[in-house]
Amino acid sequence: MSIDKIRKYLEEYSQLKSIHSLLYWDMETMMPKGAIEDRAKRLSYIQGKLHSHITGKKYKSLLDDLKNQKLKPLEKKLAKELLYDYEIQAVLPLKHVVELSHATAIANHEWAEARKNNDWKSFAPHLEKLINLKKTETKFYKAKKPYDALIKLHDREFDSARITGLFDELKTGLIKLRNKVEKEGSFVRVKDLKGPFAIDAQKAISEKVAALFGLPPEFSRLDISTHPFSINISPKDQRITTRYVTENIDSLSSTMHEVGHALYEHQLPSEWEGTPFQEAISLSVHESQSRFWENVVGRSREFSEFIHPEMVKTFPHAMKGIDEATLYKVFNKSVPGLIRVESPELYYNLHVIIRFEIEEAIFNGNIDVHDLPELWNDKYESYLGLRPKSYAEGILQDSHWASAAFGYFPTYTLGNLISGSLSRIMKEEMKNFDALIRKGDFAPIRSWLKENIHQHGRSISASDVVGKIQVKDYLSYLDKKFRS
Ligand SMILES: [Zn+2]
Repeated sequence: MSIDKIRKYLEEYSQLKSIHSLLYWDMETMMPKGAIEDRAKRLSYIQGKLHSHITGKKYKSLLDDLKNQKLKPLEKKLAKELLYDYEIQAVLPLKHVVELSHATAIANHEWAEARKNNDWKSFAPHLEKLINLKKTETKFYKAKKPYDALIKLHDREFDSARITGLFDELKTGLIKLRNKVEKEGSFVRVKDLKGPFAIDAQKAISEKVAALFGLPPEFSRLDISTHPFSINISPKDQRITTRYVTENIDSLSSTMHEVGHALYEHQLPSEWEGTPFQEAISLSVHESQSRFWENVVGRSREFSEFIHPEMVKTFPHAMKGIDEATLYKVFNKSVPGLIRVESPELYYNLHVIIRFEIEEAIFNGNIDVHDLPELWNDKYESYLGLRPKSYAEGILQDSHWASAAFGYFPTYTLGNLISGSLSRIMKEEMKNFDALIRKGDFAPIRSWLKENIHQHGRSISASDVVGKIQVKDYLSYLDKKFRS
């Protein structure tokens, strides 16, 4: 059977990908700085091998053979997904793939240094190179608008027009809600917890919560990187990272976020190794999982009640006089800030909308890379009423552009919208949803996600789970959180 031959062939692909991921994880967490050139060479070498593996003659003839086979419905679906992936990869010349991979590794390294030193000038030429490479890439895809080609690499159900429609509706709803919450004041006037927060203690509570959410310590690691991320080495080897500062405990929510990603990867069906059925539906659905654990669970009233004693034990000084209800408000404190990953939910999507609009200006317009910081700052001033005073808290804060992940940002907000619908559906189906969180029993929630999403890989679509993606579930979720 051809489909079996393909699955065997893709197992090899999966192993090679695993080695690539491990080298990448090491580069971001452990590698000595001086090794960056060598590492960029090795990463791009393997990326080239990966590309050749799934665009070469041998693989093409295996795919062609499928057309003459009598396939069962699930196999038919798999064949369709395989062909979709093939067409995306096959249009890209090997030279482009290798060059982009090399440039990305170097840019990532330069970005981390630039962010540390608040040095936009040294990063700008690397960003410019990546933008030019991605502009070239959009030409291979022949999309109507260049930016659409990049969006589709992260979620093929979307293009910039559809996203603009959803984001406009969301923006209107968010502004109305924000005005009400600000007027009512109780989520605005609450004080922050006062540190310092010892890093060992932050690490301990992060690891505890990761294990409680169901990420088994024997199949995962939590390390430190400049920008938090999660990476799947193999289903039984999930790596997540966070970053610690002693002034706050934002590391906890960023860990919950990455655990959401890692749980998805860990619960994908291992019997479909190397195939699209062992991959997430889309990056929007991936972000719906991380945002779900971070916000729907981790920033809920019930979670504050559950985690309160542990917080008191871990941070006795900071938690003095803070009861469960206050802790809930601290976790949801709603004042705008400059950093996306630390943003309260009420403002978070504005950060994403800003990046979406800038990416649109880069790829559909023709903005010069040197004008980007000014554009960034202007948009922050107009959307959030704040103007960054440094590059590090402005345009250099996120690693996505240094990774050439243009078109990724919208998936955060799409993920939020999906997580809003998931929260509605789950609460309808699981009447004791809130009670489960209150007692720290997360297994039924994790199983629900496995059964309904994770175990299906790409054999289902987002609409099979939540129907048409819409704004109203998410707004009503936020309204309930901030106004009751
Ligand atoms: Zn994420």
